[in-house]
Amino acid sequence: MQVPFYTPVREYHARKAEFDHAVQQVFESGDFILGEDVAAFEKEAASWLGVKYAVGVASGSDALIIGSDILGFRNGAEVLTPTYTFFASASCLARLGARPVFVDMDEETLNMDMRQVAQKVSPRIKGIIPVHLFLQPTPLQEVMDLARANNLKVLEDAAEGWGMQSLVDGAWEKAGTVGNIGIYSFFPTKTLGAYGDAGLMVTDDEVLYRKIKMYRVHGTSTKYHHEYIGYNSRLDTLQAAILLVKLTTTEKAIAARERHARHYTERLTGIPGVRVQSVRKDAHPVYYVYNILVPQRDALATYLKGKGIGTTIYYPKPLHLQPCFAYLGYKEGDFPVSERICKEILALPMYPELTDDEVDYVCDTIASFYGKRG
Ligand SMILES: *Cc1c(COP(=O)(O)O)cnc(C)c1O
Repeated sequence: MQVPFYTPVREYHARKAEFDHAVQQVFESGDFILGEDVAAFEKEAASWLGVKYAVGVASGSDALIIGSDILGFRNGAEVLTPTYTFFASASCLARLGARPVFVDMDEETLNMDMRQVAQKVSPRIKGIIPVHLFLQPTPLQEVMDLARANNLKVLEDAAEGWGMQSLVDGAWEKAGTVGNIGIYSFFPTKTLGAYGDAGLMVTDDEVLYRKIKMYRVHGTSTKYHHEYIGYNSRLDTLQAAILLVKLTTTEKAIAARERHARHYTERLTGIPGVRVQSVRKDAHPVYYVYNILVPQRDALATYLKGKGIGTTIYYPKPLHLQPCFAYLGYKEGDFPVSERICKEILALPMYPELTDDEVDYVCDTIASFYGKRG
C-alpha cells in the first residue's frame, strides 16, 4: 500500500467538474488580477471566519510581512515570536529590521509557552506573533490579556490555523480573528489549500483594513498615486476561484480530518514509546497536522518510507539555531524544549481523502517497527 504524506490529486479527481468549471470561468472572463472571484472569496471567507474585513494576498509569508509593516514591527522594534515555527513567522520581522525575540514552546501543546511570553514582556517589546501550530491555537485569552495590559500589537500567524478555535472572554473565537491582524496561508497542504500560493489577511479595524488593501497594491488607493511604499501581493483570481470551490466543503473536510485523528489516536496510544498530542480545554482543534513524538524518530521515518508511507518533520531545527539568525546571538541550549522536540516529532499523513484502511496500515506499520525493536 502507498500512503503519500499529502496529495491534492484525490480531491481534484473527486470534484473535477467543479474545479474545471471554476477556472474556465476565469479564463473566459480574462479577469486575472483582482477579478470578481477575489472579492467573492474575501466576502465568503470573512463571513465564515466571523470577521469584518478580509483581504486576499499572494501568500501567508507576504501576509506576515505586510502585517508586520503595518503594525510597526520594523526598525529595531522587538517582537515576541516562537522559535519553534515555520521560518516566515520570524523572517517577516527580520526583513523589516525588527528584532525577533524568541520564546520556547510548551511541551504539551507545542505552541508558544505563554509563561515565557509573560516573563519576556518589557517596555522594549512592541508586539507578539502567536503562531497557531498543527492543531490548536496558542491560548488567545492569555495572549490578549497580556497585550491589553502592556499595550502590545498582536499579529496572529494563523497560516496553519484555519478553523481552529480558542475560548476568549467566554466565547469561542476562530484563530486569526482576535488579534489586531490575523493571517492565513492557503499553501496547497494547508487545511484550506489552493492550487498554488495564496494567503489572506483579516481584521475588524477599518483603518487597518484600508491600509492592507493599499499595501497589497504598491501603497495606492488611486492608480499611480502612492500613499505608502507598499507591495505587489494580490490573491490571484485563479486561486480565488479554486478556494471558492473548496470553501463550500471546508467544514466537511475539517470533520474528516478530525475522524482520522481520532482513529490515529485510538490506534497509537497503546504503542510503547509513542506519544500523541493533547488538546487544551480552551481549544477546539483542527487537525492540519497529526504529529507523534517518538524515540528513534529518523529510523522510524526511514522504515515507514520503505513501506510506502510518507511522513514529514515539522520542524527539524528551531529558528534560533538557523544560520541566518546567528546575529541575534542565541545558542544551543537556550530553548531546551524546542531543541528536544525537533528530534522526536514526526507528522503522519493527514488529509480528508485518507481511507480508514490507510490509517490502519500506517498504525500497524508503526506498531511493527517498535515491536521488532522493543
Ligand atoms: C505555511 C506557513 C506560513 C507561510 O505561508 P505561505 O503561504 O507558504 O507563505 C507561515 N507561517 C506558518 C506557521 C506556516 O505554517
